[in-house]
Amino acid sequence: MLNKEKKILIVEDEPSLVFTLRDTLEAEHYSVSVVSDGSEVMAQIEREEPDLMILDLMLPNKSGYDICSEIREQKYTFPIIMLTARDQEIDKVTGLNIGADDYITKPFGVKELLARIKARLRRANAYSKTGPAEILKLGSVKIVLNESRVYKPENVTVELSTREVEIIEYLLSHANSPISRDDLLEKVWRYEYSTNTRTVDVHISKLRAKVEMNPDDPKYLVTLHGVGYMLKLN
Ligand code: CA
Repeated sequence: MLNKEKKILIVEDEPSLVFTLRDTLEAEHYSVSVVSDGSEVMAQIEREEPDLMILDLMLPNKSGYDICSEIREQKYTFPIIMLTARDQEIDKVTGLNIGADDYITKPFGVKELLARIKARLRRANAYSKTGPAEILKLGSVKIVLNESRVYKPENVTVELSTREVEIIEYLLSHANSPISRDDLLEKVWRYEYSTNTRTVDVHISKLRAKVEMNPDDPKYLVTLHGVGYMLKLN
């Protein structure tokens, strides 16, 4: 229902994919517009500023990279999810470095894309003043994401770092699914220098102390041995 107010701009030149994307997003009550020519994207954004953009990398007349850079140069802040046909790390890193928020590799599942879209919109919402408070309840612990704060029983309040909020948001967008340390490094740390899987473990351990009543026996932020982590929700 809320989705109705959310405008998604699809920038993609492959008709069958456009058809599928439009169909899927409209079924979720998003308002959808489509541009298939790279040179027409900026004009469309000026006409109707989208809440989120799905951007193909390979387009006629202008590449997704150039479009992405231009959008950020012009200080538009809406989330951009890049579509790439090439599953190469260099693309992902380049895309994220020039201002894309996420990327998804073709071919992808519709459910995965919808989950990414929701996560990105939720996050954009959480940081806008008018957006609703995003509250996550883990048993008796309440996490208010746009306050970066955890409320525990007996009036205990704990502050979260920006990174911790990002970790929670990422795990939340993939709740009940196993997430590897590499996934977290890639999506939350974006391959920053001097990070490794040990960095992830240290952060998760600190975060667990903040959001679990008994961090030694976590109920929600669980470790999956040999796999990684998972945010377990009912
Ligand atoms: Ca294309």
